[in-house]
Amino acid sequence: MDPAIIWDPRYNEHDTGGHVESPDRAAAIVSHLERSDLWPRLRVVAPHLATVADLLTVHVASYVDRVRDVAEGGGGWLDADTYVSDRSYEVALLAAGGALEIIAAWDDGLASFALVRPPGHHAMPDHGMGFCLFDNIAIAARRLLADGLERVLILDWDVHHGNGTQAAFYDEPRVLFASLHQWPFYPGTGWYGETGAGAGEGYTVNVPFPAGAGDGDYLYAFDALIEPIVTQYAPEAVLVSAGQDIHYQDVLGSMQVTEAGFAQMALRAAGMAAHSAGGRLGFVLEGGYNKQASAQAVEAVLRAVADGTAPEVGGPSPHGEVVVGKALEVQRRYWEL
Ligand code: ZN
Repeated sequence: MDPAIIWDPRYNEHDTGGHVESPDRAAAIVSHLERSDLWPRLRVVAPHLATVADLLTVHVASYVDRVRDVAEGGGGWLDADTYVSDRSYEVALLAAGGALEIIAAWDDGLASFALVRPPGHHAMPDHGMGFCLFDNIAIAARRLLADGLERVLILDWDVHHGNGTQAAFYDEPRVLFASLHQWPFYPGTGWYGETGAGAGEGYTVNVPFPAGAGDGDYLYAFDALIEPIVTQYAPEAVLVSAGQDIHYQDVLGSMQVTEAGFAQMALRAAGMAAHSAGGRLGFVLEGGYNKQASAQAVEAVLRAVADGTAPEVGGPSPHGEVVVGKALEVQRRYWEL
């Protein structure tokens, strides 16, 4: 599929008062792409506002009202690191709408990267946290289920565990949630044994890497664990919480992933989408706190999707092999591995 970005300059208007999730974070990625030779090949798609009904597919009404009320009151902190400015409610609707635009772009044969703010994957059904207000990717997955899809894959390679997304679908077999993340680390969840509950048991996959994991470790997890599970699951759509805070130059994460690693992961995601999902693939911006590194990582992802190739990377570290081995042991209860 041809690559696209979903972008609106209004994403700058979610003002966080000078912290690392800074207003121009997504804009910096766009201006980097504009200067690259990839730019003429990229379509730029403008998002629409999500509706309150869209938010309510993931979040409780009292929380949606609270975010709106705090914004209308001029702004305030939801917790120690999650700020709502006077414009944040509308911008958050535009962020959820940006994730939903991924689905609309499939009609035009586009695999897109939604460069949205505020991020979403920590937002719980009843409270925001970790810079996140509403869970953009979860809202998109809910739309796909409402449209009649029965198997949706959400891959989350942000350095932080996607606790909000996991919570949204913990008992839901129609969404397979697979997260690779640094552990121990914020938000503290994402251990091997968190595998889902009730009808959703076996449809949550967690790979808690120690600090320092690099390209070879991530790719080994994809090849040995995630791809075999995804092949068996046969998703009808592939969504990726594609945080860049695993980049070796990130200021919050402690991972060692390079542009080649991002490209290889994107290539694998595209392969999964091609295999069972008719190419339906979309990436959503989550974390990533070194603007230049994040921009290079997004470029690498889009280039891999556009060209269908990625630079080679090395093999896993001994630590990486141990972690993936433990995850395999747990997931063998549910999958042929
Ligand atoms: Zn993150």
